[in-house]
Amino acid sequence: MTNTPPQELLRRIPAVDQLLLRPVIAAWVESTGHDFVVAEIQSLLAETRAAVLADATGAVVTPELLEATLARRLERCLRPGLGRVINASGVILHTNLGRAPLSTAALENISALAAGYTNLEYDISEGKRSQRDLLVQPLLREVLGCEDAAVVNNNAAAVYLILNTLASGREVVVSRGELVEIGGSFRVPEIMARSGAHLCEVGTTNKTRLEDYEAAVNERTALLLRVHPSNYRIRGFTERPALAALVDLARRHRIPLVEDIGSGCLVDLRPFGISDEPTVQASLAAGVDLICFSGDKLLGGPQAGIIAGARALVAPIRKNPLMRTYRVDKLVYGALEATLRSYRFGRAAGEIPVVRMIAMSREETGRRARRFARRLRPRLPEGAAVRLVKGQSVVGGGSCPESLLPSTLLSLESESVRPAVIESRLRALDPPVIIRVEEDRALVDLRTVLPADEQVLAESLLGVVSPGFARETGT
Ligand SMILES: *Cc1c(COP(=O)(O)O)cnc(C)c1O
Repeated sequence: MTNTPPQELLRRIPAVDQLLLRPVIAAWVESTGHDFVVAEIQSLLAETRAAVLADATGAVVTPELLEATLARRLERCLRPGLGRVINASGVILHTNLGRAPLSTAALENISALAAGYTNLEYDISEGKRSQRDLLVQPLLREVLGCEDAAVVNNNAAAVYLILNTLASGREVVVSRGELVEIGGSFRVPEIMARSGAHLCEVGTTNKTRLEDYEAAVNERTALLLRVHPSNYRIRGFTERPALAALVDLARRHRIPLVEDIGSGCLVDLRPFGISDEPTVQASLAAGVDLICFSGDKLLGGPQAGIIAGARALVAPIRKNPLMRTYRVDKLVYGALEATLRSYRFGRAAGEIPVVRMIAMSREETGRRARRFARRLRPRLPEGAAVRLVKGQSVVGGGSCPESLLPSTLLSLESESVRPAVIESRLRALDPPVIIRVEEDRALVDLRTVLPADEQVLAESLLGVVSPGFARETGT
């Protein structure tokens, strides 16, 4: 093989105009715009010239080669950073997959609000400025049974604002069994330090008694903080005062009892086998002075932090200048209001996807799995099978770590494609499908799959075990 001189190779690199004439590239220009495609071609050609000069192999750069590289790059540019995913993992509040999917009512409300102007901070009847924070306050008061409530960006912000407003420079009593870390770097002691409040730890990891709290209270105590150990449980030789006893202690000493309840569960989940998730209403009714929780965990709404309780405690928090740094936008209010309405009218179990998924019985997941498998089977390629297996779904999102929801799962099997490969192939699709591999089985849990996604899921499962898959995608 004779080496072509670099100058000759450079001369043979096609010009921009020549590439633009190729049908595939012309179609890109049509769909994405001339300037964008030209800029991408120019940078590709510049890199190609540099590579030719640096490399002595004398390989000829063909228009076909450039076109293929360009197509890959353009596709990468157009792929969204944030995109839809089909969650077939069976983890209902998957933090990495964006926690709660919103209800139809919330979606409709968002789309009605997003495109236009709203009364976000405008009092229509008075014709003057108002506060956004008051928009959902009446609804929160009714649903939760509290005097006042405020909304911030997330529950971490809620905890921080509560401590910063009510306890800066003073002491906050917390049990050593409740100094939790929630995924994504929320740690109670660190938030406390940043808020300016001084942590006063009492008890031990496994046992904290009422006397421990009692002994810690002094004239510098700003509040008692109870934290729901969302994502873990301390079992065995353990003790924790009943909420009523803490309420009583707080009242006797005239200091507020604040509870970070985490998940914001508003419906009794015991009928569905979840016994370790207290409800917000129960805590408030028991006499907790101030409570905070997430909007996108068990509540099933948008990302938000809700602070609810006594007016005398919420009012100063609302006036904290830092409140402005954690405020939420109109879309969050829109989604939250619609979500809360479902609770207000007793329709949460039918309308809130998270609650619906939790409420699904094993029989129901079995019926759905059988129906889905019946549709899939006639179209499965040789050597592939789908079997129903007994398994469990989990709530996730740092809620109810010990409650497993009995489910019927689908196991997708193939003589030629290993479970781990099925999993990674599904993940590479558009939209990506997330499943679990357990005991060397590729498990699909329909509990977390939205009914509208079933068709796409079926095609995806068939695709990844079909003999053509590897050929078409090079995986
Ligand atoms: C999840 C959780 C948080 C953090 O809530 P975000 O809404 O994710 O900021 C704080 N405290 C508890 C107890 C939690 O469970």
